[in-house]
Amino acid sequence: QKSSSNGNTSKQVKSTNGSSAEKKYQVPPEIIEQKKMLPVYTAREALLKNFRENSSVIIISETGTGKTTQIPQYLYEDGYTQGGMTIAVTQPRRVAAVSIAKRVSQEMGVELGEKVGYTVRFDDKSSQLTRLKYLTDGMLVREAMIDPMLSKYSVIMLDEAHERTLNTDVLFGLLKSVQNKRKNLVKSNPNGKHKELKIIVMSATLDAELFSKYFNNAPVLYIEGRQFPVQIFYTEEVQKDYVDAALVTVLQIHLNTNKEDRSDEEQHGGDILVFLTGRDEIENLEKLLLERIVRFPSGVKKLLVCPIFSALPQEQQMKVFEKAPAGCRKVILATNIAETSLTINGIRHVVDTGVVKSKIYHSTIGIDSLSVIPISKASAKQRSGRAGREYDGKCYRLYTEDIFNRLEESSIAEIKRSNIANVILQLKTIGIDDVLSFDFLERPPIQTVKKSLELLYCLEALDDKGKLTEVGKKMSMFPLDPMYSKTLIKSVEFECLEEVLIIISMLSVESIFFIPKDKAKEVENIKNIFFSPEGDHITLLNVFREYQKVNGSPQWCYDHFINIKSMVKILNIFEQLVKYCMQSKMEMVSCQSDYERIRKCFITGFFLNVAVLQPDKKYKTMADNKEIQIHPSSFLFNVNPQYILFNELTITSKAFARNILPIEPMWLPEVCPKYYGRSPTVQDKSAQQSIKETTEAFKSN
Ligand code: ADP
Ligand code: MG
Repeated sequence: QKSSSNGNTSKQVKSTNGSSAEKKYQVPPEIIEQKKMLPVYTAREALLKNFRENSSVIIISETGTGKTTQIPQYLYEDGYTQGGMTIAVTQPRRVAAVSIAKRVSQEMGVELGEKVGYTVRFDDKSSQLTRLKYLTDGMLVREAMIDPMLSKYSVIMLDEAHERTLNTDVLFGLLKSVQNKRKNLVKSNPNGKHKELKIIVMSATLDAELFSKYFNNAPVLYIEGRQFPVQIFYTEEVQKDYVDAALVTVLQIHLNTNKEDRSDEEQHGGDILVFLTGRDEIENLEKLLLERIVRFPSGVKKLLVCPIFSALPQEQQMKVFEKAPAGCRKVILATNIAETSLTINGIRHVVDTGVVKSKIYHSTIGIDSLSVIPISKASAKQRSGRAGREYDGKCYRLYTEDIFNRLEESSIAEIKRSNIANVILQLKTIGIDDVLSFDFLERPPIQTVKKSLELLYCLEALDDKGKLTEVGKKMSMFPLDPMYSKTLIKSVEFECLEEVLIIISMLSVESIFFIPKDKAKEVENIKNIFFSPEGDHITLLNVFREYQKVNGSPQWCYDHFINIKSMVKILNIFEQLVKYCMQSKMEMVSCQSDYERIRKCFITGFFLNVAVLQPDKKYKTMADNKEIQIHPSSFLFNVNPQYILFNELTITSKAFARNILPIEPMWLPEVCPKYYGRSPTVQDKSAQQSIKETTEAFKSN
């Protein structure tokens, strides 16, 4: 008997005859019951009626009402996939798309990848059979580049619209225009192949007016959720180290629950949810907690630590949804993913650090960085709400009430705080050449548009008239940021495509080495085996090549403290990128060990990310004299080359550059004359004129 890959343990009810037949499973009765208990269930008929009567609908409700998992199923039952049409549900985060698709496939008793599937970058579990498709907003934008009418979809649901990610914002504009075009096509030819497109926008916050107005005053439906009272606690003083404060708070909650609380929790559960900013912090707190847990006196309830972040392998991601075994309490360490995207049952305590990792655009240089910044009041409220979904709960804010009062009301939409070069490139590929005529839900700042156009011009993706070049067209084929896709395309000329493919694959996975407790020294020694003074990229390349030499031996990985799951993922990404290169007919060339080619090639994409050493061992960026430092995780942390190129900037207490390549200053004008020609700005007069005209027109539009 074949075991099913969707983790469905119930027995298969209809056996397959032939490989193309769809598998079906019996849905466990408790899941059928759970579905009926969700608040959205009582709104089912009203929702369907509204969907039939309106081409666009806005839905507002608390997290955990059942929007994301149930409404697509209702639409399916109501016939929206007849004639082979598909329903798409977009998610800002890949973890959410994957885990929700998995859950819905179980609820419907089908094999994941058949009737219910998902598509996220570098991971596609959908097929011809897929009728309910969960996908990241970015992947739907990519689909629109291939099929601008999105003709296979009958309904597109923009979920988590309140997050206002860049891609969701782009989809607003694209879908509105597709909806109009398809409406007109149906009008002129009612029996043609096109059908009308229904758009459903779902949001967890109340400010729906913007969405409704945008879609010609579409109706706004409120679904009442269940929300129990949540008691809020603040710290008396400002916390210096919020990870440490979170550790103390979790232990206090776990060890101090008084008798009354205890019997209440025996009955209703009492799991803890901690909000942190990213993988490093989560793993750090996990380690600290595990150290404490082994020293718990006997008689203390067990504490089960469940991390969740996007780089975590899928099986472990699903663990957060499993009920804690009897006599055991779960503590979930999560990123913002648990704020509104995922609903985890059983939470009674929320620990809110008050911070989030967010993309920040530095419009003077024109690059993005990841920064840890304070959350908004709206976020703080969402986070505390997670403690009161099933019973009353408690939220521990690790900041003072005064700090809370001074938080922004709501977060700034990504389009207003990030580089939009990729958006411009995608719009131009879709055929929307005139970016300023694009019907944005909210417009990006003028300075951002200008800088992004400049970047694309320097990357040679746009010509001096602002038209997409051949390079630009090629770049848009890859599911990568423009700086990476440019580097990749140029690597054919620099005769190092194979190496650049490997390096980009390695860079797309967060951590390759795992560092067991008390083994830091050994890990350092091992890392030195791979070390190359020619840069982190080359060091990573060495790791990959050794890994290939030993045929991915698990023992070798283990001996070298290399995360085998990361390596498998990297290999998979590498193979997918190779396919894209073959589609673009790029010649697979290797530079063997002539690494200078690689270092030069990266300048073609990352010419803005260059910094020069200062006497105090810090660096200043060439573009705007900003002070940065090499991140301790870099192999060149103590080497301090004179000129460096970096791939990533993370700003916490300091600005840290990650993934470092030493370069030579004379390479800059040679490799990137457009930027490093005579003066360090855009050189070409006609290009300058074209960018100026575009931005002027944008301003007056
Ligand atoms: P909303 O979109 O309104 O926030 P969802 O549809 O995501 O609500 O969640 C509805 C219910 O489905 C919640 O009770 C949640 O716990 C449950 N659920 C979602 N994903 C899973 C999963 N992977 N395993 C178990 N339960 C899940
Ligand atoms: Mg949802």
